[in-house]
Amino acid sequence: MKIETKCVQGGWTPHKGEPRQVPVYQSTTFKYDTSDEMGKLFDLEAEGYFYTRLQNPTNDAVAEKICQMEGGAAAMLTSSGQAANFFAIFNICEAGDHFIASSSIYGGTYNLFGVTMKKMGIECTFVDQTLSKEELSKYFKPNTKLVFGETITNPTVSVLDIEKFADLAHSHGVPLIVDNTFATPVNCQPFKFGADIVTHSTTKYMDGHAVGVGGCIVDSGNFDWMKYADKYPGLTTPDESYHGITYAERFGKGAYITKATAQLMRDLGSIQSPQNAFYLNIGLESLHLRMKKHCENALAVAKYLKENEKVAWVNYSDLEDDKDNKLCKKYLPNGSCGVLAFGIKGGREKSIKFMDSLKLATIVTHVADAKTCLLHPASHTHRQMTEEQLLEAGVAPDLIRLSVGIEDVNDIIADLQQAFDKI
Ligand SMILES: *Cc1c(COP(=O)(O)O)cnc(C)c1O
Repeated sequence: MKIETKCVQGGWTPHKGEPRQVPVYQSTTFKYDTSDEMGKLFDLEAEGYFYTRLQNPTNDAVAEKICQMEGGAAAMLTSSGQAANFFAIFNICEAGDHFIASSSIYGGTYNLFGVTMKKMGIECTFVDQTLSKEELSKYFKPNTKLVFGETITNPTVSVLDIEKFADLAHSHGVPLIVDNTFATPVNCQPFKFGADIVTHSTTKYMDGHAVGVGGCIVDSGNFDWMKYADKYPGLTTPDESYHGITYAERFGKGAYITKATAQLMRDLGSIQSPQNAFYLNIGLESLHLRMKKHCENALAVAKYLKENEKVAWVNYSDLEDDKDNKLCKKYLPNGSCGVLAFGIKGGREKSIKFMDSLKLATIVTHVADAKTCLLHPASHTHRQMTEEQLLEAGVAPDLIRLSVGIEDVNDIIADLQQAFDKI
């Protein structure tokens, strides 16, 4: 099936007399006839649902759809994108381990890696993603367990050279995890370029209507844990909390997701509610249509801004003269996404006046949904960062993140124009 068909039909194939739409299994528990049947589920010997914290049929159908869209082997939903990125890493890292992440990542993820995970004894080195493979190799240590980046960085909208990062990770015997939130599998499928695990904040384009916070982890099933058995004992040695099961042996390409479900979801409990998974699925059904429109509108807005004399600079990788246009053409040939970044001449004061003058575009702590919105990271999402950290993350103090929606583009541009007229 093509991606458009997977968006609409993937993950749920009803049998005779069953609901055509994925139903919401609003139930915490599932019934069995005998104690023995139930016991086998707890031993991971039989497949089945028993408690929604671990698995729920609605969530599984939606995770399966995203799995098909990404071309993966197994997937799970989480309560948020933050939970997805945390689980994706914590599933193969423990206290004393180290990993490498691009410094140009989402502010929330930067904080998770640099502050909270540090307290758990897991160390992250942030790197400039434009460095060469040779330069990046210097950051690896014997205890490095993975490499992490975002397909399109939030908020600087730079494009990750996924192949370069995959080669780098694999040459050091570790997997590459890519947060594919902004591109979505409609515009980029990182597994095709060597990424091993993909994460999503489904809160953004996938949901698309700003109704539910959620996340997803998809495993390609391609990384050979057994080949590097010493590094990943959690997958390659018996799990005492499940009667000595060795995930990589027992579950093959499903090992990583099974372990994350059986251990992390069981113990940390960050499940997406089935009701939110239902909303997410409705969003996914039109994702391919919306991404096309977001990209079309964003390109028109980027060109308009580029020609505006009050604008200092514009980052949108689909623009022919953008620094990342070559990467965009390679990884995102159908368009990047609806988000762009720009700066206004005359500093902070002018930027704030401009933003406060907008009528159609609203200032919100959100991005990547149907409605045009914007944010000034230095005053909003990234305000906990020092000027130095901002610059390290490539976030210019004047950067405005504009998330172009799917309204009529002439109305969006007219709104921007009337706000520019006021400054
Ligand atoms: C928003 C976002 C997250 C965090 O997701 P939540 O659903 O808000 O927890 C992670 N990564 C990227 C790229 C994001 O844009």
